[in-house]
Amino acid sequence: MDNKKAGKFIYLPFLLIFETMKFENTLAFAQSLDQADLLSDRRNDFLFPQQNGKPFIYLCGNSLGLQPKAAREVLELQLSNWENLAVEGWFEGSSPWMFYHKELKKLMAPIVGASPLEVCPMNTLTVNLHLLMVSFYKPAGSRFKIIMEAGAFPSDQYAIESQVRFHGFDPKDAIIEVSPRAGEYTLRTEDIIAEIEANGAEIALVLFGGVNYFTGQWFDMEAITKAGHAVGAIVGFDLAHAAGNVPLKLHDWNIDFACWCSYKYQNSGPGGISGIFVHDKHFGDTTLNRFAGWWGYQEQQRFKMEKGFVPEAGADGWQISCTQVMPMALYHASLLNFEKAGFIEPLRAKSKTLTSYLIYLVNEVNSSLGEEQFKVITPAEEKDRGAQVSIIAKQDGKEIFQQLVAHNVLGDWREPNVIRLSPVPMYNSFEDVFLCAELMLKISKELRR
Ligand SMILES: *Cc1c(COP(=O)(O)O)cnc(C)c1O
Repeated sequence: MDNKKAGKFIYLPFLLIFETMKFENTLAFAQSLDQADLLSDRRNDFLFPQQNGKPFIYLCGNSLGLQPKAAREVLELQLSNWENLAVEGWFEGSSPWMFYHKELKKLMAPIVGASPLEVCPMNTLTVNLHLLMVSFYKPAGSRFKIIMEAGAFPSDQYAIESQVRFHGFDPKDAIIEVSPRAGEYTLRTEDIIAEIEANGAEIALVLFGGVNYFTGQWFDMEAITKAGHAVGAIVGFDLAHAAGNVPLKLHDWNIDFACWCSYKYQNSGPGGISGIFVHDKHFGDTTLNRFAGWWGYQEQQRFKMEKGFVPEAGADGWQISCTQVMPMALYHASLLNFEKAGFIEPLRAKSKTLTSYLIYLVNEVNSSLGEEQFKVITPAEEKDRGAQVSIIAKQDGKEIFQQLVAHNVLGDWREPNVIRLSPVPMYNSFEDVFLCAELMLKISKELRR
């Protein structure tokens, strides 16, 4: 609480300066933005991969966040707990494993805009998506369809496809995909809402990504939720690319459920633990199906080992297996960095400026080349995007990408021609963004000779 306030207070002058600022295409200007950035020291809390003895300019936090320096320490602490306490570690030591997830819940809640009771770290993302659909995809009569964005992350497509099959439906009949208009790359909110309304009585579940992995579009989650509820549907979100990236208000937006992975913008390491959100309005609903396990059983009674599942209150009641202490420790280390940064708002303020500067510089590159070599497909409006900028390279895309990597800039490549660059406010600088754009120009020029 204090941290959040402090973050806002300190950050305000920064905001005022940058929102009225005209960008300049010079290294000195980029460095001046870094000097004014009160989060610029946060990058010292992370380890950067190296190539040829030089650190990478790492613009790939949308895929795998960097390792917090504190990660090794927290892992070592848990290894020594295991060494010294062994089975007693569940109830003994400075933070017994039995209750360890509660420390994380407190820190996860402000990142997604929920109460600690509404969130829980557990499992991995696609697994949680399935588990939440077991509870919240409840086809009944003619209301059996799921509406989602076209071009969702494949794992989500497969999960949804297999869930509708599990209920005896053909995905062709049961899944409605909303696509961009011809010639457009991203979805219009009005089109999403119109599609929900047009199929209203048949929709059991609206299940969208928060931020699309390919285009970087941040959907109007509140508007989608309202539209879904207005037709009597349940509304859930996959926040893989949104959690830790954009400010979320899952509780206030009245979203029914959500889940996310923590290894992208939340830096918890490859295969890191996932988080779930269940709105507290569902806590009293005893009709919800669950695939249950002992760790979701009422905490106080769990070790009586009795027959008949009785869920723990809140999101914890969706747990199945015992606490995965090691991945949780890694997530914990990362969450403490978020707390240190003042949680999402200061990061978001910097992120908006970082992406705006990147888009400005990409346009400068195009001007220098005398043509639109790079087309930004991520929405131009700040409110419609997070940290990721997706760029179509019209010529020599793959070569340009490979040359960027050879010159120590690590973004990521999506067939057939998209480069995704994600300056992450926690550890990227304005200088990173400047140097990346400068290289894009240099490489493009060389390839045209
Ligand atoms: C990254 C991502 C996943 C990955 O799922 P895992 O189960 O963690 O492998 C799933 N869905 C979306 C939308 C993603 O962006």
